[in-house]
Amino acid sequence: MSESRKINVTVWHEYVHEKRNEKVREIYPKGIHGAIADFLSQNPDMNVRTATLEERQHGLTQSVLDSTDVLIWWGHTAHEKVKDDVVQRVYDRVLDGMGLIALHSAHYSKIFKKLMGTTCSLKWREVAEKERIWVVEPGHPIAEGLNEYFEVPNTEMYGERFDIPAPDQLVFISWFEGGEVFRSGCCYNRGKGKVFYFRPGHETFPIYYQSEVQKVITNAVRWAAPTVNSPAIKFGHVQPLEVIPEKQV
Ligand code: ZN
Repeated sequence: MSESRKINVTVWHEYVHEKRNEKVREIYPKGIHGAIADFLSQNPDMNVRTATLEERQHGLTQSVLDSTDVLIWWGHTAHEKVKDDVVQRVYDRVLDGMGLIALHSAHYSKIFKKLMGTTCSLKWREVAEKERIWVVEPGHPIAEGLNEYFEVPNTEMYGERFDIPAPDQLVFISWFEGGEVFRSGCCYNRGKGKVFYFRPGHETFPIYYQSEVQKVITNAVRWAAPTVNSPAIKFGHVQPLEVIPEKQV
């Protein structure tokens, strides 16, 4: 594969918990963005960089976004600190074809809520319970290489109802030890862009080191990458393509 055909991935992280909480820092010494960038960088078809909230324009300038094929988003405690003009810029790029992968608590990020148009609220509980993630669309490219289910031994629970529009494709459903279920892998088309929500990844558990989770995120990057040479989108008043006989009305 030539250099020009590599997928340019930007991993965005609010990067707040690691600085405040020693337990999180011990699990993710390079930050969650660093852990995700580390395993994605091992793929020869990907160029990976990171961006964080504290950078100028949150590290998401127009030129960064213009050269990003797939943006990965992790946020939890600082959603409101993300500036609206940056959210609009990301939104416009998604409609223009950039892929977006929203992880875990990014369900409540400004960008995900704007793309969904709903509250994106859910139930939650943090008692380190087990999660079993079932593949419900085995032919989907994001499920490639997985077994029919995999388990996260200790996690935060997210439960239905998850207030999202019905996904265009639902790839994963989670079951939790406490009894709840959740739509954990949701695909959407928005304009030319592809959006994937993937649930696992609470900051106090080493979930992003788990091989199945890494495989899903890697597959999702390839799925969400823009379609090369997709048709231009035209809106507004147009002339007919055929001659229409004059109508008497
Ligand atoms: Zn969490």
